[in-house]
Amino acid sequence: MKIALAGIGKIALDQHVPALATSGDWTLAATVSRHGSVPGIPAFGDIAEMLEAHPDVEAVSLCLPPVPRFAAAVAVLKAGRHLMLEKPPGATLSEVHALQGMAQAAGVSIFATWHSRMAHAVAAAKAWLSDRTVLDGRITWREDVRKWHPGQDWIFAAGGMGVFDPGINALSILTEILPRPVHLLGAELDVPANRQAPIAARLSLSQGIEADFDFRQEGPQTWDMEFRTDGGHLALRSGGNVLEIDGKAAGGQDSIMGEYPALYARMAQLVRQGRADIDLAPMVLVADAFTLGRRSTVDPFEF
Ligand code: NAP
Repeated sequence: MKIALAGIGKIALDQHVPALATSGDWTLAATVSRHGSVPGIPAFGDIAEMLEAHPDVEAVSLCLPPVPRFAAAVAVLKAGRHLMLEKPPGATLSEVHALQGMAQAAGVSIFATWHSRMAHAVAAAKAWLSDRTVLDGRITWREDVRKWHPGQDWIFAAGGMGVFDPGINALSILTEILPRPVHLLGAELDVPANRQAPIAARLSLSQGIEADFDFRQEGPQTWDMEFRTDGGHLALRSGGNVLEIDGKAAGGQDSIMGEYPALYARMAQLVRQGRADIDLAPMVLVADAFTLGRRSTVDPFEF
């Protein structure tokens, strides 16, 4: 099947293009971006032009930041093409609900992806937790925004979500592996004096779970979560890719390179089965943190 990629920036080049290059399901047939392109692939600066010129493109994968993504998503659905969304699936919950309704009316597939759910050890962690009770847990998601989002001012603008851009990856794993639904009890948000979105956040969740998200970590990066249960201790490290049970290695693979191939395989499956996959649970927790969170102003931030 032919697919187009829109928003040729960091994640498109780091992950989507390599995943499509080795996909048995998809051929990258066009790109849409104002500045970016992929060598050898027809490039368009405008999504309407691409859709008009390429009736053979069955699906479009959007890698734009969340705020400008909605207009592109509507254009794709109006043209009757299947739609794949980078995480977070939109800037607001209501716009994603609107896209879901449009896709259903158009009879096309829509996939709100959560790449971290495809990490190597997530399924095994979910299976291990399925017949246990979580007593408490701790999520530590600390990374260097300058390394992973160089110069991306949109991430600190309204709708960019700030540290929740990576933090929502942790929440996507959490909401996938816990046997019981989790909800937010409280949050503290540290917002730089010159920005709109938090650079750090601490969340208290039900089931005794605490989360610590920070965008200011230099040196080693940390994407870990640990749970104490009535039947032992589970740790997921390296963004869900490495599993430890009771302090001992229990599977996985310390590489993020399996996540995007798995997303594109899932997208092909959804298209073939005429289905949609939208789970907004991680985004609900972020929205709740913005609703309930106590804000503190911290030092201004520049890239
Ligand atoms: P990015 O490089 O800043 O943006 C991707 C591309 O979108 C840009 O190169 C730009 O292409 C286009 N774009 C940016 N702002 C735009 C605007 N206002 N209007 C229209 N087009 C705009 O961002 P990214 O890191 O790839 O992230 C994109 C999405 O992927 C985000 O939702 C993010 O959460 C997700 N993601 C990122 C990472 C990561 O490590 N960076 C990892 C996983 C997922 P043109 O200027 O050429 O149009």
